[in-house]
Amino acid sequence: MTHQLSSTPLLSRQVIRSRVKTLARQIRQHYGEEDVLWVGLMNGAFIFLADLARQFPQPIELAFLRAASYGKKARSSGQVELDGLEKLDLVGRKVLLIDDILDTGRTMSYVSAALLEAGASDVQSCVLLDKEARREVPFQASFKGFVIEDLFVVGYGLDYAEKYRNLPEVWTVKELA
Ligand code: 5GP
Ligand code: MG
Repeated sequence: MTHQLSSTPLLSRQVIRSRVKTLARQIRQHYGEEDVLWVGLMNGAFIFLADLARQFPQPIELAFLRAASYGKKARSSGQVELDGLEKLDLVGRKVLLIDDILDTGRTMSYVSAALLEAGASDVQSCVLLDKEARREVPFQASFKGFVIEDLFVVGYGLDYAEKYRNLPEVWTVKELA
């Protein structure tokens, strides 16, 4: 399908940069000097996580998991497949789970539960974007950058058919018939 990017970004570099700094301040205030394992979801969170983590002077421990949701294709139950969990020792750890965007809430809700199941003592979550109106399972991010409308967005880690993740801004995409 052909598609078109919006003529101007939904979120500019400056707007994102300033919000990421604020989020970092909120996260620092919440955790203080506590030992926290940051867990990012690949691929979407890679740029957001990289920018957020570089706002912290202390050595942060980072890990990545891969989560794929088959909810839309397969069936409405919204199956989430999670890769990499078995390699992490989460017992007793405080975890900050990071993703690009909250949509139906299935991914974050599933992964949070899986982290607790694997022994994490606490799981907080941080997303850059939140499409609140699209929620199908109840999930609230502990830290969120922007609440956005129900629009498909790309850039700053987010893709359309695996492209556009490199764009420094967030853009909306329109599919053309
Ligand atoms: P959820 O499980 O909350 O429905 O979906 C979250 C995942 O769906 C995100 O990690 C992301 O991969 C994908 N997603 C949801 N909305 C968008 C969007 O507007 N643009 C892109 N590129 N991905 C999205
Ligand atoms: Mg994703």
